[in-house]
Amino acid sequence: MCNLKEISEQILKAKKIGISFHTSPDGDAIGSSLSLLNALRLLGKDSYIISRDVISDNFSFLSFSEEIDGNTLQPDLDTDLVIVLDCGNVERISADLTSYKGNVINIDHHISNENYGFINYIDSNASATCELSYLLIKELGIDFNEKNDKKIAIGNAIYTGLVTDTGSFRHSNVTKRTHTIAGELIELGVKNSMVHSNLFDNKPFNKVKLMGCVLSNIELVLDNKVAVLQIPKGMLEELNLQNADTSDIISIGLGIKGVEVSMLLKEVEEGVKTSLRSKNDVDVRKVAEVYGGGGHIKAAGVMQKNINIEAAKNNLLKIIKEDIHL
Ligand code: 5GP
Ligand code: MN
Repeated sequence: MCNLKEISEQILKAKKIGISFHTSPDGDAIGSSLSLLNALRLLGKDSYIISRDVISDNFSFLSFSEEIDGNTLQPDLDTDLVIVLDCGNVERISADLTSYKGNVINIDHHISNENYGFINYIDSNASATCELSYLLIKELGIDFNEKNDKKIAIGNAIYTGLVTDTGSFRHSNVTKRTHTIAGELIELGVKNSMVHSNLFDNKPFNKVKLMGCVLSNIELVLDNKVAVLQIPKGMLEELNLQNADTSDIISIGLGIKGVEVSMLLKEVEEGVKTSLRSKNDVDVRKVAEVYGGGGHIKAAGVMQKNINIEAAKNNLLKIIKEDIHL
């Protein structure tokens, strides 16, 4: 694996830089990308976001978030460097790189990363890719001791990724470094409660109704150790929600006494998208990988194509059953 100094050198000599992330971007994908975009612009580098996705409203407080508008699908012709953040697999990149001939740098914290870049910087000990973007931005020469609004904008984006990928500093992926970086960001002037309330106390009313609908059908299976939550086709449309972020709904399942795994199945156009979360020892990444998905030990996801919700659920429960001690 190369180091951040080499990446920094490649960035500083690049003429035009595209930044992308994993499809259906979460707070870490968005935070790491926008922190880097803000930093590169502060350094005067010609840089922009490539994304087929749009982002949900609760990220709109982040500087340049309006540029993640789903309109730039592939690199511009004169782009000589694309940096992909928080994305383990080529097929999940929210950019079409099929005709792109320049270099790709891959910066991520997924243990299963496919090393698809010409430079790959994968640190699975990082709680969030935002830890890595912070270290890279410092390596690029941005001094967080000298404070100004542009640096606070970088800090807000990094703090967003730290908060969202750690369940607000609650998961076991949190390390001393996570807290050290968070502390340095507070010192810089990041307002933690402002970030938190933008992210979490900002739900559309219908999103809360969705939570109610999903929770009213929750079931416990495998000796009450697995919580199963479902969003059947039509439920989102009925509530006029497009692609609502559902990470808070799945956490409610995990909050139940005795539950080891929480599973949220979402019926989508191509099939069923499932999110999996684990409280202790069950490795949900392995469960997801059986059906072509991936992620982390305690948070993973999988897309099962051309299948109904019941069959998708049973497939996953069969694997979890082998792993869970009943
Ligand atoms: P979520 O359940 O929030 O979509 O994702 C949880 C974790 O699993 C994230 O780290 C995400 O990148 C990963 N993940 C989600 N869906 C997939 C998938 O279909 N394939 C792979 N490889 N990883 C996924
Ligand atoms: Mn992440």
